[in-house]
Amino acid sequence: MTETCIFCKIIKKDLPAIIVFENEEFIVFHDKNPISELHLLLVTKKHIESLQSISINDSEWLGRMIALIPEIIIQNGCKNGFRVISNAGTNSGQEIPHLHFHIIGGNSLHKKIL
Ligand code: AMP
Ligand code: ZN
Repeated sequence: MTETCIFCKIIKKDLPAIIVFENEEFIVFHDKNPISELHLLLVTKKHIESLQSISINDSEWLGRMIALIPEIIIQNGCKNGFRVISNAGTNSGQEIPHLHFHIIGGNSLHKKIL
């Protein structure tokens, strides 16, 4: 938890968000500037800067984080495919230095990044 972090504030319910899932470790809410029909953010409750800051010791909770995605997708009515992106560090354009996965879908994602 850091005092100034927007996602920490959402986790603490000090800032509003449309939360669609929450457990002890993770929270999922709608991105406030969606780039697709469905644009969710899957966020760790622990303040971790990005995928740059994790190591092999984080495999277990990272596995649990990724394994949540199919259920989140189903519950949000996005059955024809989706994309998961995680920006990490300056060159990626990461705006919020608190680890999160963008889950985007709902419409055809024509513009492929890779
Ligand atoms: P990134 O560049 O990967 O750090 O993406 C940060 C994302 O957080 C952007 O897509 C923003 O639209 C989103 N965002 C910023 N503030 C909020 C907020 N208060 N509630 C929901 N999403 C937010
Ligand atoms: Zn944070």
